[in-house]
Amino acid sequence: MQTQKSFDEFKNEPFTDFSKADEAEAMKAAIEQVRSELGRDYPIIINGEKIDLETKFESINPANKTELVGRFSDADSDESLTEKAIDAAAEAFKMWRSVSPEERAEYLFKVAAIIRERKHYYSAWMIFETGKTWGEADGDTAEAIDFCEFYGREMLRWAGRQPITKLEGEDNRFEYVPLGVGAIIPPWNFPLAIMAGMTLAAVVTGNTTVLKPSPDAPTIAYKFMEILDEIGLPKGVVNFVAGSGTKVGEMLVQSPKIRFVSFTGSKNVGLHIYETAAKTPKGQNWMKRVVAEMGGKDAIIVDSEADLESAAQGVVSAAFGFQGQKCSACSRLIVDEKVHADLMAKVVELTKQLKVGLPTEADTNMTAVINQKSFDNALNYIKIGRDEGGEILTGGSGDDANGFYIEPTIIDNVQPQATIEQEEIFAPVLAVIKARDFDHALEIANDTQYGLTGAVYSANEEKLEQARDEFHVGNLYLNRKCTGALVGAHPFGGFNMSGTDSKAGGREYLLQFMQGKLVSKKVAANKRDDSEAVGSAKDTTAKAF
Ligand code: NAD
Repeated sequence: MQTQKSFDEFKNEPFTDFSKADEAEAMKAAIEQVRSELGRDYPIIINGEKIDLETKFESINPANKTELVGRFSDADSDESLTEKAIDAAAEAFKMWRSVSPEERAEYLFKVAAIIRERKHYYSAWMIFETGKTWGEADGDTAEAIDFCEFYGREMLRWAGRQPITKLEGEDNRFEYVPLGVGAIIPPWNFPLAIMAGMTLAAVVTGNTTVLKPSPDAPTIAYKFMEILDEIGLPKGVVNFVAGSGTKVGEMLVQSPKIRFVSFTGSKNVGLHIYETAAKTPKGQNWMKRVVAEMGGKDAIIVDSEADLESAAQGVVSAAFGFQGQKCSACSRLIVDEKVHADLMAKVVELTKQLKVGLPTEADTNMTAVINQKSFDNALNYIKIGRDEGGEILTGGSGDDANGFYIEPTIIDNVQPQATIEQEEIFAPVLAVIKARDFDHALEIANDTQYGLTGAVYSANEEKLEQARDEFHVGNLYLNRKCTGALVGAHPFGGFNMSGTDSKAGGREYLLQFMQGKLVSKKVAANKRDDSEAVGSAKDTTAKAF
């Protein structure tokens, strides 16, 4: 097992080149390995103890819905277990908070090394559990490695001596200390990268956690727990409680023993958590911190002066990659009416070339959406899009006989403010809106509750600069697609109803899991006399806090 030295400069993990025969063979072997492990039972884990419960819920393969991926002990069935998990984390915090940052970071480097070594194995779990194609699963695995390597290094940086103004006669030091017990509530769509990134950011900063995985992707989260066990992370630092958001999740957010909530998911759940966590129940001695990364209604603007070939490729990849189930996915294409016909011909042609099929097959471009609810929701939005005057250019229907397959769907002539132009669908449904000119395109793009990602294609530098100033999103991309953020290079997080702009994979991210502590020590050389009357002309501290 090769761990990268902590002082190496961070570099993004390269993606796998599956055109190489040996890599393709390795992935096929991993898929068969995982296939042979499907359908097992998984316990919850509290303070390292595996607890098997009678009541279970199932995680299935969305692309082949009769295939059982795993059966999970359901912590919804016994409320005392969530309480027990929080207590275990609180107990472990007493020890973990004083483990050195260097040692904590070393655990993350070890996690990275294990994932790197068995990357296809973890990718294969996501292929079965969440309908990721090979490339999408590989990207998720690479990002998980990146989060470990990046946050490990970041912790070392924050643990160093922090710059502070020198004052004669005092030894002043500013350091960051952990918060306490955190609830980690991830989504299913980056079930390894986001789940591991959220958990390990909290852990490396000295906190302990209760991880409630998404009920749609608990198996890959359990595999992550196995890694933590393998590297010897002390028991109780991460407790694993599988259950629903409305029971286990709700209990975690409400608990007075929880110091912070790290959430990634939909806008409505995020807002509910934000509000709930603001309450200060009896016995809670703090205001909970909430890190909430939420949805998007991300737009790509294609200007009249754009390279249409490259724009079309970017749009199709960002709209239909992982079936449009990325928070950064392009769900609105805003195109200058002068190039609308030419661009749409290219976009439609590329979309028709997409191969929809099983995610286990190497050449599949698109597969099923995550579950029945998502399938029904997508079809409902397609109907609304039609009813509100949209014109279907491709797709428009779905088939849930074997899995939850929605055709890649493009709806043209959508009006600004139409339902499908405003609400996140989280499926392969692209709304196309015509703009009179570039100003109008920006106006349409910004006219949303959200502000996560956006992209502009134009050969005109002035327009790109205008977008830099005026396009109000957390992640803006110029002449490239709006998906595919890389840790370190593209700190990720949105404005407005897209969340608290936490910038995952960025240099401020870890600060959200720590609080600053200033210790000021009077030293012998201190010339200032504490006996000076407070407020006197000589009392230099009188006008400060
Ligand atoms: P979701 O909101 O349905 O669920 C997210 C998590 O919250 C799950 O673990 C769920 O069980 C839990 N949950 C649900 N109700 C809860 C409650 N009342 N209290 C506590 N926890 C609760 O979202 P999802 O379907 O898992 O993920 C898709 C959404 O996530 C999309 O909206 C997408 O845009 C967003 N997302 C955002 C980012 C980002 O970085 N901004 C990244 C990935 C996904």
